[in-house]
Amino acid sequence: MPGESSPRNATIGASRIWAVMMVALAARPLPCQAQDGRKLQPETARLRAVVETLASPEFGGRSGPGGDKAADYLVEQFRQLGLKGLFNGEYDQIIPGKEPNTRIGRNVGAMLRGSDPSLRDQWLILAAHYDHLGVHGGRLYPGADDNASGVAMMLEVARCLTRAKAPPRRSIMFIGFDLEEHALFGSRYFVAHPPVPLERVKLFITADLIARSLAGVCGNHVFVIGSEHSPVLRPWIREAGKDRPLTVDLLGADVLLLNRSDYGPFRGKSIPFLFFTTGENPCYHTPRDTPDSLDYPKFTEIARMIDQVVRTSLDAADLPRWQAAPDNPIDEAVALRDVLRILQKNGQAVKVNAAQSFVIRSTLDLLDQIVARGSFTPEERSRVIQGARIVLFTVL
Ligand SMILES: [Zn+2]
Repeated sequence: MPGESSPRNATIGASRIWAVMMVALAARPLPCQAQDGRKLQPETARLRAVVETLASPEFGGRSGPGGDKAADYLVEQFRQLGLKGLFNGEYDQIIPGKEPNTRIGRNVGAMLRGSDPSLRDQWLILAAHYDHLGVHGGRLYPGADDNASGVAMMLEVARCLTRAKAPPRRSIMFIGFDLEEHALFGSRYFVAHPPVPLERVKLFITADLIARSLAGVCGNHVFVIGSEHSPVLRPWIREAGKDRPLTVDLLGADVLLLNRSDYGPFRGKSIPFLFFTTGENPCYHTPRDTPDSLDYPKFTEIARMIDQVVRTSLDAADLPRWQAAPDNPIDEAVALRDVLRILQKNGQAVKVNAAQSFVIRSTLDLLDQIVARGSFTPEERSRVIQGARIVLFTVL
């Protein structure tokens, strides 16, 4: 697969090489040590404990009173970590209803200020929606993967950052969004009422469904969406995913029909973003989305990978910039080919019908040509994306 380097690198002078090395070193996260010297990273037992708590019947599927309870839980976690409230010192951002003195939800946010005087007014956001579908017909929708998994990851990254020996250079906000399941209303409200001017938000990272696999058959695949608008993030993602039992697939947001989670409103404001997901699966939005059905080893690796991307971003010399025209790498075609092959191979298990099977076959034919050639035309990409969308949205 073509990488990020080019033959031109062979001719650059020694001082340039030195400068590049310094930037690379500055972008590499320092080994994150706890105050007592142990390596700090998201831990399986802690991730699992948060998921089991939030997905328990007590939290009522995190809607209505159960949603409030989940928000209270987040406030308590932030407080225990010693993080300050994000909204004028408060943890809550109340989302008002149409009628006066009513409210329809609450975002919960906390912050950790950076240590570098020249960078601490630059912000990174790490977010996960905590709401889910509630109880319907007497049945609890626990939402373990959707999205207790994302919340647990966020709290673990927050724990690691607050327990590290030195604070990061830039500042970070941790936000639990409400009402994602209601047309992303919580994150839309936040973007319309941000606690700092949005120009200071340099990167938005969110995760939604990070503890299973696409269609239940895609093993160790994890999808990362958003680097098409900020290609500088790609080496950071690759570095963070390296030496892990994960297959990291970089996709463009248009594969998912654009705004499928809380990154949408930030994307709409041209703020660099990353969205981590393992995709939809047979338990998605059913009462079967329970804690015991998650893949905890995979979930832990993804949480650690996100933790590494966050730390790299907080301390890097350079920041991602928004590039309006998406730059979709050939890696995307490779990823789609591999995923479609898996779905084809598991056609019976994922109930692929004849029409879907035809779309998979013809899209795979085109992808094989593209990957062999190592390039694609815009027309070819739109045919691939159309095929992939038909498969992803009708099979799953
Ligand atoms: Zn979700």
